[in-house]
Amino acid sequence: MPASALDCAVTSALRSNRDGHERLFFTLKPHLKGITMRATVMYAAHDVRVQNVPDARILDPTDALVRVTRACICGSDLWPYNSMEPNTDGRRMGHEFVGRVEDVGSEVRTVKKGDLVMAPFAWSDGTCEFCQMGLQTSCIHGGFWGGTKLDGGQGEAVRVPLADGTLVALPVGEDHALMPSLLTLTDVMGTGHHAARAARVAPGKIAAVVGDGAVGLCGVIAARRLGAAQIIILGRHPDRIALAREFGATDVVSERGEAAVERVRELTGGLGAHSVLECVGHGASMLTAVGIARAGGAVGRVGVPQEETIPQSVPVFFRNVTIAGGPAPVRAYMSELLPDVLEGRIQPGRVFDRVTELDGVPGGYRAMNEREAIKVMIRF
Ligand SMILES: [Zn+2]
Repeated sequence: MPASALDCAVTSALRSNRDGHERLFFTLKPHLKGITMRATVMYAAHDVRVQNVPDARILDPTDALVRVTRACICGSDLWPYNSMEPNTDGRRMGHEFVGRVEDVGSEVRTVKKGDLVMAPFAWSDGTCEFCQMGLQTSCIHGGFWGGTKLDGGQGEAVRVPLADGTLVALPVGEDHALMPSLLTLTDVMGTGHHAARAARVAPGKIAAVVGDGAVGLCGVIAARRLGAAQIIILGRHPDRIALAREFGATDVVSERGEAAVERVRELTGGLGAHSVLECVGHGASMLTAVGIARAGGAVGRVGVPQEETIPQSVPVFFRNVTIAGGPAPVRAYMSELLPDVLEGRIQPGRVFDRVTELDGVPGGYRAMNEREAIKVMIRF
């Protein structure tokens, strides 16, 4: 037997022996029975319940078990909230959370029991070709939280697959004053940043943000952070507009449709914005977004499209407007944005204007759907 083959045989024998030990060890560790828990389940449009669900538990050696300390409700949760067909199995909800690691599988190396961690809205291995290029939302082995097979963030605990690639440990305690802003790095701040990146925001240029929800407001923060000289927010809710101004918006356009396009053109010397951050996803908002982009400009879209087609494709072609964007790889942006949050340069946590316990989650959905709240945080 050649030496390399012998090596292989020895290694695999050792490995199977070690795995055997670990399996034995697992069966003896009592907390690996999992965490008895309650979580948010959606059964149909406007039917959100908090109820007992199966224990979260480690299933694979690359898993971590996380007890959730903070989570939130997302604007994208409102799409199923308004449109979900009744489903007796229900759908587990929530994709933004921070929590405490309760246990890890045998192959997890980067986080350990007791760590406070944040999870991006998609889980990923951190090693595949797409992860290495910073596009973790396209991870070959990754996926998204919730649904019918995985735990969601709006519950007391989550089994986190591929923990090494997914979780980021936080250097603060779970009740730290910065926790709201840290929580936004799991989605809305990273998504606003992605819109700004896709729209190629650059120092001294004009950015326009379509949408005054939490992502649009974070888009204003991102555009300012990347150096835009003029930041136009398109939105109509007074409380949100006020926050947008504090975040750095220089102009407000509250008209809609063609009137909004005209108003933005007036504000930009007739040419339109260099960078447009589309943060809604409606056909109407996309129509406005492409209408206000100048020739050679770019639209970065992060609102989940509710339409199959991109409007105005012929004028967009003739003006050489770039249409870019998609689900934000927030895992890639966590390391870039974390220092700005920790050192107080950005305060995206101000988008949270309501806090609830887990039992108040159905009311939180109602409040966001009625536009009574911008974004609801859940404390456990
Ligand atoms: Zn990957």
